[in-house]
Amino acid sequence: MAPLHDDDDGRPTTTNTGDEEMETCEAMRDLVRGYKTFRAAHFSDDGGRGNGATSSVKDTLRELSERGQAPSALVIACCDSRADPAIVFATSPGEVFVVRNVANLVPPYTGVDGAHHGTCAAIEYSVQHLRVPLILVMGHTQCGGAAAALKKYGNGPNADAGFLEANEETGEGFIGSWINLAERVVCEVCEEHDPDIRARMLEFELVKNSVKNLHTFPFIAERVKAGELEIRGAVFNVFNGTLKILQPNGRFATPKDEDASDKSASTAVAPPDAKRAREE
Ligand SMILES: [Zn+2]
Repeated sequence: MAPLHDDDDGRPTTTNTGDEEMETCEAMRDLVRGYKTFRAAHFSDDGGRGNGATSSVKDTLRELSERGQAPSALVIACCDSRADPAIVFATSPGEVFVVRNVANLVPPYTGVDGAHHGTCAAIEYSVQHLRVPLILVMGHTQCGGAAAALKKYGNGPNADAGFLEANEETGEGFIGSWINLAERVVCEVCEEHDPDIRARMLEFELVKNSVKNLHTFPFIAERVKAGELEIRGAVFNVFNGTLKILQPNGRFATPKDEDASDKSASTAVAPPDAKRAREE
């Protein structure tokens, strides 16, 4: 067993700091370099306040460590490495509770059945135990999960059922099983839109469907009815870094202050707007 020593926070840790010689890949070395940058920026002697800031990530983390987390929102986003809620919303530690899965899908409530519903468990924890006042479902452009669902169901129900099916030999099949949640939405999008804009439309419609499914959970419906919980949707554009937020009328629009400074994004956009979809 590796010897222990006290770290600067007084808690025991192993002596292996990651600097010891160990065969590893470039990706792991990149992560360790990033970690060291994080430490230097936020845990230096001045506590990361060298730029004149009155508080620091170090202070925030220490305070959160002592009093626990109380995030102001649950964000449900895709796993895609280009659409990170912490970056898009410029959040600090403790501000948002994030759940990420393939294509930011929320299953409809079907009761507790013994299966391993990771997304539902995270939703329940944040809503019932952390009492978040907001849930935001954030989709994004060029979503691979949405594209896979479109490929599987794009020509109608089970038109290409062989795609992404379970393979006992390789152990694959989880993606195909997961995106079954998108089947109905894909079929609706295909009925309404031309092939060249279906992928874009689907990214918006999947967000709307996840928002809709959130309301099927009894504990969520109860808090929404009591006025304690708001549920919203949004789509992040990976190419230009803009965000369109789902409005009560079912359309997506950019935040108003951004509208004023960016005339090209000044119009509220509904998913069925084919012209807009092509532009983006
Ligand atoms: Zn995605």
